[in-house]
Amino acid sequence: MLKIVVVEDEPSISEVISLYLRRAGYIVSCYSDGLVALDSLTSQLPDLIILDVMLPGMDGFALVRNLRDQSDVPIILLTSRKEESDRIAGLELGADDYVVKPFSPQELVSRVRAVLRRARSITSITNEGILDFGDLSINPQTREVSIHGKPIILTAKEFDLLHYMALHPRQVFTRDQLLENIWGYSHYIDPGTVTVHMRRLREKIEKDPTSPVYIITVWGIGYKFEP
Ligand code: CA
Repeated sequence: MLKIVVVEDEPSISEVISLYLRRAGYIVSCYSDGLVALDSLTSQLPDLIILDVMLPGMDGFALVRNLRDQSDVPIILLTSRKEESDRIAGLELGADDYVVKPFSPQELVSRVRAVLRRARSITSITNEGILDFGDLSINPQTREVSIHGKPIILTAKEFDLLHYMALHPRQVFTRDQLLENIWGYSHYIDPGTVTVHMRRLREKIEKDPTSPVYIITVWGIGYKFEP
């Protein structure tokens, strides 16, 4: 599931936004103060950020500037100002899109989808090359995996699992999240399926599957890929 951070100091607006985004299947966290938000975003980035321009602590423009110094995470600005110059300023600073208040929550959800789609297609272009982690290399184009240059034969699902986790290094995934992202129908498949696939994947890529170095179990939560 994709994570979205909403930074908006008007509780009524941030409540409506999070309600619609959650209904659309996103995981949402909200902040009402720009500085507090930046502090949290510096340690962990979501898949997309929705920023109000007028904020206590640090305004939306300054936040975009700060975030762009460290990442190209997709950003949508919320602006109550009608001036075109503000919207242009936001885009020039590196925001991906803006929505003018008052907006319909459904419209915002559509913009979120569009921006995420765009961001993903960019990611797939930049990842056209091989994901290289020293000993382990993953080629998404040919769907080939090798360790120390030696090719490893993976099933389609094993490859998808490894590739998906490798694209999000160190991010912890629950079995349900992996089911949803790799299999697509989390409700119809036993989460034990993930456990079985992980075991086979480890047998193929880990030197010692009983003490894995790439696919790490996070007890009580799920798995993460350690580059
Ligand atoms: Ca505001």
